[in-house]
Amino acid sequence: KSGFVALIGRPNVGKSTLLNYIVGQKVAIMSNVAQTTRNKIQGIYTSPEAQIIFIDTPGVHKPATKLGDFMERSTMSALDEVDAVLFVVSATEKRGAGDDFIIDRLKQVKQPIYLVVNKIDQVSPNDLPDIVAQYQDALPFAAVVPISALQGNNVNDLLNKIIAGL
Ligand code: GDP
Ligand code: MG
Repeated sequence: KSGFVALIGRPNVGKSTLLNYIVGQKVAIMSNVAQTTRNKIQGIYTSPEAQIIFIDTPGVHKPATKLGDFMERSTMSALDEVDAVLFVVSATEKRGAGDDFIIDRLKQVKQPIYLVVNKIDQVSPNDLPDIVAQYQDALPFAAVVPISALQGNNVNDLLNKIIAGL
């Protein structure tokens, strides 16, 4: 199996960290500063059963500049060209306007969308159901997968689900 998978989500939710963990090398620049990922950076995951090309997107927000607007449009157009989308959110943040903006755009995406709830190492397992509940009715997700991209928790489960859906 093979396919293209895009990661989308607010800045700092851990998209680059997840991509780095999956691909096993520092392909995307990690930073606490929003908007450092300027390009669609691709990483390739290869296993006996699948090859997946991941596309890390710049932080999506309401564009205020011409450059921002260009980045926004290139990110959004990528969503129509992939086989699956990972909508990455942080378990440490409440759903906000940035998430709603992305959710609106994802309503037009026909490919499977996976809700990836990252940074679960930072929250109590008891709080996870309420965190997930903020998002799960927003879109018809193919699956909801809580992970820690930093520690690698559940990332294999996420990969297996993506591969099964390709
Ligand atoms: P991006 O803007 O979505 O690409 O986010 P980054 O991958 O650059 O991560 C933003 C910050 O969150 C960095 O300081 C990461 O180390 C941190 N981070 C990412 N994933 C996790 C996680 O699973 N757990 C914790 N505790 N921190 C994380
Ligand atoms: Mg990034």
